[in-house]
Amino acid sequence: MEQLLEQMLQQKYGKTLKEASKEEVYVALLCITKEKMKGLKQNEGKKKLYYISAEFLIGKLLSNNLINLGLFEETREVLKKHGHDLTQIEEVELEPSLGNGGLGRLSACFLDSIAALGLQGDGVGLNYHDGLFLQRFVDNKQWEEKNPWITDNSWLTKTDCHFEVPFKDFTLTSTMYDIDVPGYKHGCNKLHLFDIDTVDESIIEDGINFDKTDIKKNLTLFLYPDDSDENGELLRIYQQYFMVSNGAQLILKETKERGGSVDKLHEYVSVQINDTHPTMVIPELIRLLLEEGLDMDTAISVVTNTCAYTNHTILAEALEKWPIAYLEKVVPHLMPIIRELDARVRAKFDDERVYIIDNMDRVHMAHIDIHYGYAVNGVAALHTEILKESELKHFYDIYPEKFNNKTNGITFRRWLLHCNHELATYLQELIGEEFIEDTTKLETLLQYMDNEEVLKKLKEIKKNGKIQLKEYLKMTQNITIDENSVYDIQIKRLHEYKRQQMNALYAIYKYKEIKKGNLPKRPITMIFGAKAAPAYIIAKDIIHLILCLQQLIENDPEVSKHLKIVMIENYNVTKAEKLIPACDISEQISLASKEASGTGNMKFMLNGAITLGTEDGANVEIHELVGDENIYIFGESSETVINLYETSGYCSKKIYESDAMIEELVDFIVGKELLQIGDPVNLGRLYKEIVGKDWFMTLLDLKDYIATKERMLNDYEDEMGWAKKMLVNIAKAGFFSSDRTIEEYNRDIWHL
Ligand SMILES: *Cc1c(COP(=O)(O)O)cnc(C)c1O
Repeated sequence: MEQLLEQMLQQKYGKTLKEASKEEVYVALLCITKEKMKGLKQNEGKKKLYYISAEFLIGKLLSNNLINLGLFEETREVLKKHGHDLTQIEEVELEPSLGNGGLGRLSACFLDSIAALGLQGDGVGLNYHDGLFLQRFVDNKQWEEKNPWITDNSWLTKTDCHFEVPFKDFTLTSTMYDIDVPGYKHGCNKLHLFDIDTVDESIIEDGINFDKTDIKKNLTLFLYPDDSDENGELLRIYQQYFMVSNGAQLILKETKERGGSVDKLHEYVSVQINDTHPTMVIPELIRLLLEEGLDMDTAISVVTNTCAYTNHTILAEALEKWPIAYLEKVVPHLMPIIRELDARVRAKFDDERVYIIDNMDRVHMAHIDIHYGYAVNGVAALHTEILKESELKHFYDIYPEKFNNKTNGITFRRWLLHCNHELATYLQELIGEEFIEDTTKLETLLQYMDNEEVLKKLKEIKKNGKIQLKEYLKMTQNITIDENSVYDIQIKRLHEYKRQQMNALYAIYKYKEIKKGNLPKRPITMIFGAKAAPAYIIAKDIIHLILCLQQLIENDPEVSKHLKIVMIENYNVTKAEKLIPACDISEQISLASKEASGTGNMKFMLNGAITLGTEDGANVEIHELVGDENIYIFGESSETVINLYETSGYCSKKIYESDAMIEELVDFIVGKELLQIGDPVNLGRLYKEIVGKDWFMTLLDLKDYIATKERMLNDYEDEMGWAKKMLVNIAKAGFFSSDRTIEEYNRDIWHL
């Protein structure tokens, strides 16, 4: 590596490694790594997987690629020798914001694991030039800007692969860009990102506004452009069809190139449909197979045996339903096929809840996936049970054999080896390297459960993580935090069901306690990170509340000695990698039944944070693995919550009026302290929402939450007791490796 770097820097800049700037070293490393990946053997086999997803939240790639190529340690050492620090070099790389949250991060972890297991499987998505958006805070509110990430020196490789994608009024020619996905010690796969050459960033006005009707210029500008009006919805349909038509054409082309015959496509290909966004791949594949000369019965049966669907949520608003009229405006050539698919369902089943087209002329995308795919999976044990027993019960009754669970996972390459080098190195010294490829081997750690030296070392590594986060926050946001405080972290998309508002009410509780003289044993640093969807009003109001609380406490010397709130700007993968190793308390406080799985919870556990959570998503499985002693569970069960929804039995106003403490905390949102800082419109609306509706039942669990958090903070003071909990969490995290998840997908669904 030393030689390669010196050569490359000499050739590109006429400099030695010692003389080169961070930017120059980065570019040299990028070129060397790209070259190495070109030489890797592509994974092969008769059958190939295509993982189609609107989101791939891949994060920065330099370190991860170096790890997977086995060059990471060597590169670190070489750079050090010449006065550079790999962590600093990485700062140069821009993070592509090609995802929104957990779903997009999951697809990135999956690509890493598919390659690591030597399986032949590529990702298919879109090359959004400006990503989701870049979040800034202005006047304690979220402000959105474009987030460009494509530069001359990116991981993208332009290919000469082009397809014609037909829309009603015009046809677009695509260009395929590839990003290499090297497997840990194994061959290589690819992420294919489709684009058009005519995209024009200059049509973006202030913030993220642009002309939504100019498809040839705007098609791949943003992920999830605002769809609160008709033009926005149409643009989403344009994007989705562009993605899947390219995917389908690529699939048929490659299958033929591998010598497969398209009338037996299911023997050569599995398509995984990640949530409903890529659903149109089903009618599109059928359309293309008809063009290839197959008859309708055969085309439908072949495609049904090729496609599998992953459900990610039971939130009704997330299950896409496109009006027929919109599909007719964008992709009229798909409508005859969709109508045929619906007609076959109607001929067979007498239950209108399973029809594809409803009586309001809307197309239910998930229904296409379930009828015309061969597998349907949920993403955690509880989630899959809820799908089978309530949300998708009518479908489960028809197709019990299609339903299966695949509990989510995370790649330990990124979420341990890369983000927490010190912990990873120590674990290898202690229990050997085996756990890197067989993560269940982490359990051998349990033999050290009562070893004081090991426990002390784990605490020391955590402390170092906290100091590093402190330095990072100082550098990036000019905020100072105290490494001796307890770090309590909630980082995830902003959504009412995730209940950041409940955590904010805890902050209000603590503020009031401190004012009364009830001081915490140790200062508390509450850290939030979250983007709100630009059109999600209440989510933005919650951000406003948190930022106002941050300012209120900061300016109150009496309170700020004991409590600090930090809201991280533009939460993304890079920030997650800095925050997670530093965390003591992992906030996983969604309303039970609403978080399908969560993967943040797994990252925190692996890095020795203790979960404060509800019995929801994968928290249930974490609880089972670590036992009652090593997790803090609170709140009503999913059964109770589901029952409350079914009976309309929840009334937040009743709780508010019958409990003086709750009333006091909620009233604080519109009290004089915050109104001096914040916007009465935002705070008033949020107050009204919580008292008058509270759809995600914050007040239901608030008291139990506060009590459990207090107990947790108390237990934190027992140093060795806490370190033991950390050790058990790390030891039991092996199950949540995405390698395990992918092995299960392959065993039960893909059969590669
Ligand atoms: C892991 C991850 C998520 C998902 O977090 P949850 O707590 O599971 O919602 C979202 N965003 C980023 C950047 C992540 O790394």
